[in-house]
Amino acid sequence: RERTLAMIKPDGLSGNYTERIKEVILESGFDIVKEAVVQLDAERASLFYAEHSGRSFFDSLVKYMTSGPVLVMILERPDAISHWRVLIGPTDARKAKISNPNSIRAMCGVDSEKNCVHGSDSPQSAAREISFFFGDVRSD
Ligand code: ATP
Repeated sequence: RERTLAMIKPDGLSGNYTERIKEVILESGFDIVKEAVVQLDAERASLFYAEHSGRSFFDSLVKYMTSGPVLVMILERPDAISHWRVLIGPTDARKAKISNPNSIRAMCGVDSEKNCVHGSDSPQSAAREISFFFGDVRSD
């Protein structure tokens, strides 16, 4: 079994998609190991997305990510990282609506920024992101 960090971004929470997204999570065989509602400030959001700090969309991304609370979850199942990435669909929700109409981003995302959910993209980022929000939970 493997763990990944999933996040429902501010637009997902304010748009009341949480229950539908959790249904998809549980129907897809994930356990929700831990969850927390968190309000990011600009410093924490910048740190979370530090790899994008040089990008033109960075300021806008930080604004978006601090516009309201997010729901972070540790999800666990075999092959959790790639399985969750497939379920959420491509980064750009407009593309998701065409190429992956059953994906979560097709359901609740708007465009390449407001895409409703996040998922770790590698074992390294999953470990970093889980400890970013939950500290050391390796034995939980
Ligand atoms: P995430 O890391 O949130 O799961 P991702 O891995 O699909 O998303 P990244 O390329 O890592 O996509 O981008 C991180 C986030 O930055 C995206 O989820 C989106 O909110 C925002 N973003 C990415 N590309 C753009 C863009 N071209 N314009 C505006 N915002 C963008």
